[in-house]
Amino acid sequence: MNTHELWQAALGELELKLSKAHFTTWFRNTFIIEYDKHQVTVGVPNTFTKAWLEKKYHKDILNAIQNITEHPIKGLGYRVETRASTPVPVVLKEVEPEPAPAPTHPINASYESLGFTSREESPRSSTAINSSYTFDSFVVGKQNELAHAAAQAVAAHPGGTYNPVFVYGDVGLGKTHLLQAIGNSMLQRNPNARVLYASCEQFTNDFIHAVRTGRAKAFKDRYRTVDLLLIDDIQFITGKEGTQEEFFHTFNTLHQDNKQIVICSDRPPKAIAALEKRLLSRLEWGMLVDVGAPDLETRIAILQLKCQNKTISLGRDTLQYIASNIQSNVRELEGALNKIVAVHQFKNIQPSLETIIPIIDSFDVNTIKKTVSPKHIIQTVTEYFDISIEDVLGKSREKRLAFPRQIIMYLLREEMSISYPSIGTELGGRDHTTAMHAYSKIAKILKDDDQLNRDLDLIKQKMYAG
Ligand code: ADP
Ligand code: MG
Repeated sequence: MNTHELWQAALGELELKLSKAHFTTWFRNTFIIEYDKHQVTVGVPNTFTKAWLEKKYHKDILNAIQNITEHPIKGLGYRVETRASTPVPVVLKEVEPEPAPAPTHPINASYESLGFTSREESPRSSTAINSSYTFDSFVVGKQNELAHAAAQAVAAHPGGTYNPVFVYGDVGLGKTHLLQAIGNSMLQRNPNARVLYASCEQFTNDFIHAVRTGRAKAFKDRYRTVDLLLIDDIQFITGKEGTQEEFFHTFNTLHQDNKQIVICSDRPPKAIAALEKRLLSRLEWGMLVDVGAPDLETRIAILQLKCQNKTISLGRDTLQYIASNIQSNVRELEGALNKIVAVHQFKNIQPSLETIIPIIDSFDVNTIKKTVSPKHIIQTVTEYFDISIEDVLGKSREKRLAFPRQIIMYLLREEMSISYPSIGTELGGRDHTTAMHAYSKIAKILKDDDQLNRDLDLIKQKMYAG
């Protein structure tokens, strides 16, 4: 077992113990740096996480690792270290030089003209805003009506009662759309308004770049003289001390001048790790609203609206089918619709319930994961291979049983993200190493075995159909 697998298995255990919010907050971007038999060093993204893990979760982490290694770990330590593949929190003093900002980006492109003085010269970042993200193209349902109302209110009366507005919710639920709708609406009312939309990442990069090139003042002028500042995905500010400080001052300046600030995040301010207290309190100053996953009627309405722009017409039964199968998020709903449009245009046929069902069924099964259970997977696989559940959970290592057993373990991991130890338990109390082995074996075979790929497709279709 390599360190990656060991950590994945340990995370699997920890995930079961902790709430989702805590788990993602504290274990995101962690990994094992070193592991040598009795000594484990865990890499963490920042000192705050390090302190927290040491104080709160040390025992749990130790237990989780020992359950997997099955021998005692004498030393467990933590070290601040980041890996390039994950979104890396940046501490200003330590960062490597960033690549020069892409000249095409409106915000970065405006660097050259950062020393603007008059309104006319000011590089309005309206081009960074997607003009199709408007209030008109936003469907209001119960789960987003408050966020929508707040957004409309600040677009009409910026810098008024609600400042800042902080919108949070899971991915793909329309936060960015709403944020930009505010910008679009304000620009429509007043084309001279200075609207600045930036993701947290952009703000960070701009800031770092400005400091490095000695243009800190220009950066300040730019961010602190707008009428409306829209900051997306602020959760990425976690651990970036320099950026937090800069944002804090930007915030204060704008707020004092009664300029509107709207912020989006995938979680409420309190759940953003390593956020400076004073900044946290600012974020909670104004209005805090969440957006949730849309209900069936809203999903259907969204589909109807998106169809209008796509010159495709779908019947009520078809819309209903799509919306009832893709539940968790609007981005996926849109993805499914795009796929349907593409397939039908390609084949040059009219969409009907019959023609869309296979498309939806083959669409990212992750979205309907919730409907399957371990029991359901075991049942489907045993039916497919025509063997009994009892046998597959039993001790026999006969090939006709061993192979389906491995497929079950693979599917439990792949489709449900169950931890290896729990997979072992599901399969009649097997060892977690057996589950790991099964997973990697099947994954390997799948790379170039067409037959097994077809088998698994069929099994999945059956699994998600029932
Ligand atoms: P988030 O920023 O919350 O991850 P986005 O704003 O990027 O989500 O939304 C994902 C996609 O779903 C966008 O194309 C957006 O237009 C669409 N969308 C989300 N919610 C709605 C809604 N209520 N009405 C219309 N489109 C929506
Ligand atoms: Mg977004």
